[in-house]
Amino acid sequence: MKVFKFGGASVKDAEGIKNVYSVLEQVGHKDVLLVISAMGKTTNALEVVIKNYIDKSPELQSSLQDVKKYHNQILLDLFEEENHEVFTVVNKLFADLEYFLKHNKSPNYNFVYDQVVSTGEMVSTTIVSQYFNYRGLQNQWLDVREFIKTDNTYRDAIVDWEHTQQNIVKKIQRKTLNITQGFLGSDENNFTTTLGREGSDYSAAIFAYCLNAESVTIWKDVQGVLNADPRYFENAILLNQISYREAIELAFYGATVIHPKTLQPLQRKEIPLYVKSFINPLLAGTSVSKGADLEPHTSCYIVKKNQLLISLSSLDFSFIMEENISEIFALLHQYKMKVHLIQNSAISFSVCVDDKFGNFSELKKLLSKKFKVTYNEDVSLYTIRHFTEKSVNAVAQNKEVLVKQVSRETMQVVTKEKI
Ligand code: ADP
Ligand code: ASP
Ligand code: MG
Repeated sequence: MKVFKFGGASVKDAEGIKNVYSVLEQVGHKDVLLVISAMGKTTNALEVVIKNYIDKSPELQSSLQDVKKYHNQILLDLFEEENHEVFTVVNKLFADLEYFLKHNKSPNYNFVYDQVVSTGEMVSTTIVSQYFNYRGLQNQWLDVREFIKTDNTYRDAIVDWEHTQQNIVKKIQRKTLNITQGFLGSDENNFTTTLGREGSDYSAAIFAYCLNAESVTIWKDVQGVLNADPRYFENAILLNQISYREAIELAFYGATVIHPKTLQPLQRKEIPLYVKSFINPLLAGTSVSKGADLEPHTSCYIVKKNQLLISLSSLDFSFIMEENISEIFALLHQYKMKVHLIQNSAISFSVCVDDKFGNFSELKKLLSKKFKVTYNEDVSLYTIRHFTEKSVNAVAQNKEVLVKQVSRETMQVVTKEKI
């Protein structure tokens, strides 16, 4: 069996869904499991609904209407008869969501988040599955929550591999086209959980692992894995093949084309991963497999924008040692700062972090009691794998380099735009 994953960008409108159908016609759909994400930016739109619900904002209804209207337009573009049963099924999913919002008593934000945001994937897979049937491509729609079991860490659930494996092996039919949701799972009480933002790639890997799949293909709006994010780097080139190890490194440093958790289950069973273009499905794309040489061997660039560089030095010239460092890390963890680079000397310590939740001003007050705190906001962290002098110069050009760190294969620089 092959596992295919189609992300939000591939199903963002009716044209996109028709294109997915055409991709399957070209590459085959027998003995395939399709994992599909929410359409376009639906997850972000549902996050707005959640915020309005939690804040008891008067905007709640209109934000919900936006999500409904968007999907309704896609339905109207796909199905000629307005009395097609898909309209009823999709309406029912939205009615379930509204029922939840009306009756929920749980104050647990993360729990609420997962119950609400999951509507995106439930609706998208319903539409795709029904559309394929409509076009005569028979398929089996599966509720992923009956397969992927997790703990109850809502928004970042941990997979219960044993139960997941049992469900998948027992209940998935081979030799047919199966369609299910990415990103979602369920806990032991059958409440919906999610695997972390952008987690649908990981869902595909979970299924592939449990099914001993022949391969996983994630279909993207780019040709494959490039040596740089094309949104930020001109002339990014396609990597024809890379090893699991290289892919894990790239994803870890922030190449968002593959979710970092995807690779580990695949490499354990040596299941090849293909990253291909849904626009040109017959092109080879990138193949990720064991020990594959990076081909072409070239520098790879990753950038994380909008980072915060915090530098601490001791007030009395004492050393910054293990005890201080563990205290600093406990605080960074408590304030949900994701650390992307660390550098220390005898009396100073710098970290480049992502302050996603805007907690720095609180944290700074605490740190200032013990350390002299200096910081730079809005810096960029560049990581260059397989760097050369030329690639480093290209990145540092017209920028002020605040921190530089070099290991054998990887160079990282924290930069600030020169004004
Ligand atoms: P999905 O629709 O599956 O969610 P994403 O939008 O998350 O897809 O991932 C595809 C995007 O990842 C590309 O459009 C590109 O902008 C970005 N990207 C970042 N780094 C890379 C890279 N190294 N190679 C290719 N694409 C990259
Ligand atoms: N829909 C989810 C998100 O946008 C999962 C995914 O697309 O991978 O994060
Ligand atoms: Mg995505």
